[in-house]
Amino acid sequence: MAKYVYLFTEGNATMRNLLGGKGANLAEMTNIGLPVPQGFTITTEACTQYYEDGRTINDEIMAEIMKYVEIMEKINGKKFGDLKNPLLVSVRSGARASMPGMMDTILNLGLNDEVVAAMIAGNPDPKFERFVYDSYRRFIQMFSDVVMEVGKKYFEQLIDKMKEEKGVQYDIELNAADLKKLAEQFKAEYKKQLGQDFPSDPKVQLYEAIRAVFRSWDNPRANVYRRDNDIPYSWGTAVNVMPMVFGNLNNNSGTGVAFTRDPATGEKKLMGEFLVNAQGEDVVAGVRTPMPITEMAERFPEAYADFSRVCNILENHYRDMQDMEFTVENGKLYMLQCRNGKRTAQAALKIACDLVDEGMRTPEEAVLMIDPRNLDTLLHPQFDAKALKSAQQIGKGLGASPGAACGQIVFTADDAEKWKNAGKKVVLVRLETSPEDITGMKAAQGILTVRGGMTSHAAVVARGMGKCCVSGCGEIVMDEANKKFTLAGKTYHEGDVISIDGSTGKIYDGAVPTVDAKVEGEFGRIMSWADSFRKLHVRTNADTPRDAKKARELGAEGIGLCRTEHMFFDPQRISAFREMICADTKAEREKALDKIMGMQQGDFEELFEAMEGNPVTIRFLDPPLHEFVPTEEAEIALLAEVQGKSVEAIKAVIQGLHESNPMMGHRGCRLTVTYPEIAVMQTKAVIRAAINTKKKHPDWKIVPEIMIPLVGEAKEFSYVKKIVVEVADAEIKAAGSDLKYEVGTMIEIPRAALTADEIAKEAEFFCFGTNDLTQMTFGFSRDDAGKFLPAYYDTKIYENDPFAKLDQTGVGKLMKMAVTLGRSVRPGMECGICGEHGGDPTSVEFCHKIGLSYVSCSPYRVPIARLAAAQAAIKDRG
Ligand code: ADP
Ligand code: MG
Ligand code: MG
Repeated sequence: MAKYVYLFTEGNATMRNLLGGKGANLAEMTNIGLPVPQGFTITTEACTQYYEDGRTINDEIMAEIMKYVEIMEKINGKKFGDLKNPLLVSVRSGARASMPGMMDTILNLGLNDEVVAAMIAGNPDPKFERFVYDSYRRFIQMFSDVVMEVGKKYFEQLIDKMKEEKGVQYDIELNAADLKKLAEQFKAEYKKQLGQDFPSDPKVQLYEAIRAVFRSWDNPRANVYRRDNDIPYSWGTAVNVMPMVFGNLNNNSGTGVAFTRDPATGEKKLMGEFLVNAQGEDVVAGVRTPMPITEMAERFPEAYADFSRVCNILENHYRDMQDMEFTVENGKLYMLQCRNGKRTAQAALKIACDLVDEGMRTPEEAVLMIDPRNLDTLLHPQFDAKALKSAQQIGKGLGASPGAACGQIVFTADDAEKWKNAGKKVVLVRLETSPEDITGMKAAQGILTVRGGMTSHAAVVARGMGKCCVSGCGEIVMDEANKKFTLAGKTYHEGDVISIDGSTGKIYDGAVPTVDAKVEGEFGRIMSWADSFRKLHVRTNADTPRDAKKARELGAEGIGLCRTEHMFFDPQRISAFREMICADTKAEREKALDKIMGMQQGDFEELFEAMEGNPVTIRFLDPPLHEFVPTEEAEIALLAEVQGKSVEAIKAVIQGLHESNPMMGHRGCRLTVTYPEIAVMQTKAVIRAAINTKKKHPDWKIVPEIMIPLVGEAKEFSYVKKIVVEVADAEIKAAGSDLKYEVGTMIEIPRAALTADEIAKEAEFFCFGTNDLTQMTFGFSRDDAGKFLPAYYDTKIYENDPFAKLDQTGVGKLMKMAVTLGRSVRPGMECGICGEHGGDPTSVEFCHKIGLSYVSCSPYRVPIARLAAAQAAIKDRG
């Protein structure tokens, strides 16, 4: 029989798949002798079973849970519903990977009218009465919200009303009678909303709470978070049930969150926040602005000393920065959670390097500690230091998540999304954020909140997303309802522009210019370690010399894809290109092409220059021609005039180019088959550019790689290659050069993968165009998939967008097959990838596994790919 429940004393840190991160670490802390209230963990397998059983907890599991409830009651000498010694528990979710704020927690479970009355009767201190009602109203609110899904807002409105009536600002200013009344109002609200009484039996409460945690694994925000963070739906969440300790007992109690190193900068020092007379969720939700942990040292010297000791033990034990949640009840410390803390990319780099210097970690381990996806933020622009000096600072909050953000103010998550979709850059300004705001936070350049500390929801989530965030700027006088706020004597409305600095917490009026980031310091150190471990080469997709230079700075070892059509879109060139398209005769077409050739050659020369002798792969014209033709009447008329043709004639050409399925239409190498002169022109431009560059830099290794797109048949490739080779050889001979070049193909049509051995007889290299390959393999267009993919996510048919994350099962199988077939006729043949996937860490790992030679990605993803490639190689070595 499977075991679905574990006491904390039965588990340990290695069991996170089964017990979830929180459960495994509660067990580990118990094992190393730290003060943890003793409860149990219901496994992730029980959660999976719950879903398999049609969202019910089966009898077997329920019986096991009830058995462990009894054991927990014995261990703690308290009982559910007991009037002398009532047991109150928390019910907490905890998946394998931490998902802060995504799933739900219920505190103070076990309270009902009788228990409340008995507790009060047993302790005459009026402060105790206040505590009991405070716990009760919290429980009713959380249970209603989390378990029964009655909106939090109804209860918050009641609290606000009560505070208003009493003329107080904070909930701690409400007395026992107020809280008692609130508890009653809450129960009435519950009944009003649900048409039934609040459940009084603690075991029923527990059952419902456990179910709610299992259910929360599938809530919309958890699903979005999982997709963003590569967490499979199949993992499930564990549930932790443990006795409550009370930070809201009195003023000698409190609750806190702390990090052993600064999660924003990585600096080694205890960082955190503590809230007196409060329960955990108050700190995270930013209900009041908490005190810094250093102040706790003064007010709770013993608990603080104890806590510092625990911090050291935990850091040395896990050899990583720890993020801890704890509570002080009547001066005594209890540990409620620890985990390797989430951190900004900057902090991650510093911590990894420091741990190596402290002798705690090897460089390999340090490289593995960095999440490649987080590097993204470091590569984003920072405020220009010079511009900052003259910028007008209007306020300061906490630098909660670094980065520079500048944009128009919006006040709701919905607006952030809408404005972003309309192509605007926004800064989301909120009183405080809640998990519902997550998509809006993603859409914003940065987040500014009035309330909340370094560990508030906004701060934690923003750091996880690598998004700039300034939190807790109390100087802001907020009027969310009317979409405006006042700061530094000025009223800001929706749409006004501000800039915020997530490192310093400073807020500026208007737009402050930014500068590009650099790979240096700790970033550089980690990257050089990564480079020494990886096997895959990393190239870049670059169409312009500017992109190419940027990519070189970021460590690109060549160009894996230059899309030549982007050079044609230039306004000065498009007219020549249009003449080419509308030409009636070959002669006319060649004349138009001549105009373009010089320009292309110039571009290629600059690309070769920028790459300093590293490989450059140039793809010949790919998109359907209709993408280039004018749509406006005026432009059509102009084209007609230049070509000396009638408007009707031009329109007829345009009409003729129309296709019902352009993605599968007249494009790629098919253009060369119909109009060889285009390939002739492009070959000349490449070869001449290469020869010229070689002359200038005799020591550089210049071997242009000419890449033919959309090949699906070996003979098709041979036909195009012959045209290229004839022209190239003639050019080289005429110039008296000894230039070498290669002609290869993209593998982006399933048929090319299936017949790769045939194609490899002629093709000198392969490069997987996984955007098209994905499109053609799935049979849906990447331009239209956005419309129906969300339904596929909702129904769990797909967990990810296959255009963002390589489909290893299907598309990957084709790639693997193509590599094997290709190399069977051309051993050691160079095979790369140049789709968007080339910069996605899990896809890079896959490319390493199937033995690709390189990945090619957009310039800003180059460091991400370098790191991901190193991690793949390290993991591969085991
Ligand atoms: P999250 O994953 O959102 O952090 P948790 O399950 O950690 O949710 O619970 C949030 C907070 O609730 C904790 O940080 C802690 O302060 C409080 N809490 C949870 N369990 C207990 C408990 N048994 N006693 C006291 N406080 C608790
Ligand atoms: Mg927690
Ligand atoms: Mg393609």
